[in-house]
Amino acid sequence: MAAAIAARQAGASVVVIERGVLGGTCVNVGCVPSKTLLAAAGARHGAATNPFTGVPTSAGKADLGALVAQKDELVAGMRQAKYADVAGAYGFEVLAGHARFPDPSTLEVDGHALRARACIVATGSEPDRPDLAGLAEVEYLTSTTAMELAEVPESLVIIGGGYVGMEQAQLFAHLGAHVTIVGRLAPQAEPELTEVLRGVFATDGVEVVEERASAVAGSAAQITVTTASGRRVNGHRLLVATGRRARTDGLGLAGAGVRTDERGSVVVDEGERTSNPRIYAAGDVSGAPQYVYVAAAGGRVAALNALAADPAAPAARVDYTGLPSVVFTRPQLASAGWSEAEALRRGRRCECRILRLDDVPRALVQRDTRGAVKVIADADTGRLLGVHALADGAGEMMLAATYAIKAGMTVDDLADTWAPYLTMAESLRIAAGLFRNQLPTSCCA
Ligand SMILES: Cc1cc2nc3c(=O)[nH]c(=O)nc-3n(C[C@H](O)[C@H](O)[C@H](O)COP(=O)(O)OP(=O)(O)OC[C@H]3O[C@@H](n4cnc5c(N)ncnc54)[C@H](O)[C@@H]3O)c2cc1C
Repeated sequence: MAAAIAARQAGASVVVIERGVLGGTCVNVGCVPSKTLLAAAGARHGAATNPFTGVPTSAGKADLGALVAQKDELVAGMRQAKYADVAGAYGFEVLAGHARFPDPSTLEVDGHALRARACIVATGSEPDRPDLAGLAEVEYLTSTTAMELAEVPESLVIIGGGYVGMEQAQLFAHLGAHVTIVGRLAPQAEPELTEVLRGVFATDGVEVVEERASAVAGSAAQITVTTASGRRVNGHRLLVATGRRARTDGLGLAGAGVRTDERGSVVVDEGERTSNPRIYAAGDVSGAPQYVYVAAAGGRVAALNALAADPAAPAARVDYTGLPSVVFTRPQLASAGWSEAEALRRGRRCECRILRLDDVPRALVQRDTRGAVKVIADADTGRLLGVHALADGAGEMMLAATYAIKAGMTVDDLADTWAPYLTMAESLRIAAGLFRNQLPTSCCA
């Protein structure tokens, strides 16, 4: 969609070829359905764990069938308004069919050749299937099928503790299932935040077995996952969330001279060009960070470069400065910019400060101080390199963090810039103040 819009704005005629459902992963089986279901599960969990003694609340049994139906209605509405109607407004056709390259200069849709100056491959990714003994013999869920269930399973074992595993774990735990995660929790997160997150999952009743799953066995009613150390974890259902790999089946990339890497992702340069000068690639299929806004930014860059007067010298590129990411757990786990490890890997001397949420007035008044904020600054210049937070609304905080990193702000700038009291985002100012001294913080001083 982003590539098509950019190409139309540049005056080109455009056809989008879609073999499945318009909208791709995000609106149909990714961001939108997961976030609306998580919001519903969070409302139930909020009622069950309400900390305000004077306002009694209770949480009844969840009707997952009703929630899934409501989610499907939202998805259908957004697919129409944000995709089909937008294609109409910009004036490009969406052609139903399977696209493939029979040779380096031809594109076919269900066997019919299409002529175009350039093609952009944006075929996304699909759940990875880990090489796990016994997996082929058992029935298991992916994030897609889990969000179609009509009933909350009594117990659920999830293999994988990345963002999909963590979100799905809380989704089902907050709807009343007993959930166990097998795998490393939040492998991409700052270790200090992962440590706090372990406590959150423990208080939520989500068991986390931080070991590699090595085998799976069971029947329709009971699944057993065996870990590398021989530990056995049982559950009624199994969900596999071990990552997503590029979706390139039946595209004919090899015959078209489009190189892929050892993980199967299409290899692109910073202008989203592949090894075939007429073919570009963007989004999950290109091995880019798997966020819909990265896919959109890549799609736009691919379109601009494909239509440039001199496509051999691409002008546009994706600028990853301050890139944010959010795991929509409760509290959210979010980041902007670099991790401490990444800053060191890039040869930067850095200094870090960690602010616990029991030092943040917003967390105190909400009576939920589970969480922390970590700020990473360049030790030589004081410039902000990364911000990481486990907090209610951490995703919202990251917009400010991204702006600050992109604008080249220092921790002094942050400490001396207005922050509204009592907001969670104020923790950015408070954490920046810790670079001056680490005495206890007053409310606004
Ligand atoms: C459970 C889950 C939750 C997520 N939550 C978030 C979130 O909160 N925020 C966020 O930023 N990201 C989130 N993501 C990631 C995000 O959805 C993806 O990064 C994004 O959708 C990738 O977009 P894309 O355009 O590269 O591919 P896709 O959206 O996957 O689109 C690819 C399309 O290509 C079609 N296709 C494939 N092959 C062919 C072919 N040969 N011919 C024709 N059509 C073809 C497919 O049918 C598909 O519709 C989530 C993902 C999942 C799975």
